[in-house]
Amino acid sequence: MRQQRADIYTRITAEIATAIENGAGEWRMPWNHDGSSIARPRNVISDKGYRGINVLALWVAARRSGYVDGTWGTYQQWSQLGCQVRKGEKATSVVFWKQMHRHQHADAAPSDADGTLCGEHEDQPRFLARGYCVFNARQVDGYAPPDLPSLPDSERIVRADGFFAALNIPIVTGGNEACYRPSIDTVFMPPFERFIDAASYYSCLGHETGHATGAKHRLDRDLTGRFGSAKYAMDEVIVELTSSFIMADLGIAHRPRAENAAYIASWIEILKDDPHAIFTAASKAQAAADWMHAQQSRQMLTSDRVDIDTIAVPLAQPDQAMHRSDLLREDNRANTHGGASHQGGRLHSRLAARR
Ligand SMILES: [Zn+2]
Repeated sequence: MRQQRADIYTRITAEIATAIENGAGEWRMPWNHDGSSIARPRNVISDKGYRGINVLALWVAARRSGYVDGTWGTYQQWSQLGCQVRKGEKATSVVFWKQMHRHQHADAAPSDADGTLCGEHEDQPRFLARGYCVFNARQVDGYAPPDLPSLPDSERIVRADGFFAALNIPIVTGGNEACYRPSIDTVFMPPFERFIDAASYYSCLGHETGHATGAKHRLDRDLTGRFGSAKYAMDEVIVELTSSFIMADLGIAHRPRAENAAYIASWIEILKDDPHAIFTAASKAQAAADWMHAQQSRQMLTSDRVDIDTIAVPLAQPDQAMHRSDLLREDNRANTHGGASHQGGRLHSRLAARR
C-alpha cells in the first residue's frame, strides 16, 4: 500500500518535471494554457472540475498527447455512457485522497497534498493518496462533446475585473513593474494598456494577488519550515499555479512568463529532491484559488475599501516584493530595467527584491 502511494507521487512528479524541462526552452510551463475548455479539466460524469495536482497532471497529459478536450473519465465512467476507450490507449494517473480512521495505517506518512494537513497529532484525520486511471474524451469512441457556450472576450474582461475587485486586496495602478509588497499588503500593477494583451494583464494580476493571499490575515501561507531558503521559489510556483487555475476558471489564457532560468532550475531541483513538493504547491495554489472564489459572494463593505491615493509608498523598500515586467509591451519593458518609475512623483518601483 505504501509502495503504491510512493509510486503515484513519484510518477506524477516525474511527468511534471519532464514537462517543465521540455518547455523551459521556450519559456512555457505546463501550467500555461489558452483559456479554452481544455484548460478546465472536468469529469465526464460528475461535471465537476478536477482540482489541485490533478489539474496539473491532466494539463501535462493533454499537452503531451495533443488532446483538445478537457473532459476525462475512468474506463467504467465512459462505459456507463455507452462509450468505448479505444484499445491500446494509455491512461493518465490522477489521485484522490481517502480518509483513514485513526486506527488504520497509523504509521502512514503525513501528507498535506490535498490541502488538508494530516498531522503529527493522533486525533487528526489521515489521508491516503490513491491513484486511479482516467482517459480523455479523445481516447474514446462514441462520445459527442456538448456544445459549450463561451463568453465573448469583452464579457470575460468585465467578469475578470469584477472577480479581482471582489478580492478587496489593495491594488495601486501605475509604474512599469508589477509586484506585491507584504509590508503594506499592496499589489502594484502597471496600467492595463501597457500589457501585451488582456490575458497578460490578468495573468499578472492573478500572480500578484496570489502572493497577497499568503498574507497572515488571509491564508497565512508560511513556507519557511518546509522549504527553508527555497520558500521564495516555492511561492513563485504556487502563485503561478494560482493564477493559472483562476485564468482557467475565467476562460482567459494564462500567458507564458519569461521565467528566470535560475528559478526554473531551482524548481526542477525542488521537484526532484522532494516528490511531494509539487503536490504541496498545487494544493496551496488550489487553496488560494478557493479563497479568491470565496470572496466573490462576500458583500463588499465600504469600510473594507482602500483609497489607493492615500497609500504613501516608501522608496526603495527592502521588501519581499515580486516583480514581473516580462508581460509588458517592449517600449515599456525597456523602462523597467532603468529601475525607477513614477506616478505623481510618489511611486518608485526600484525594489531591492527578488525576481
Ligand atoms: Zn511572484
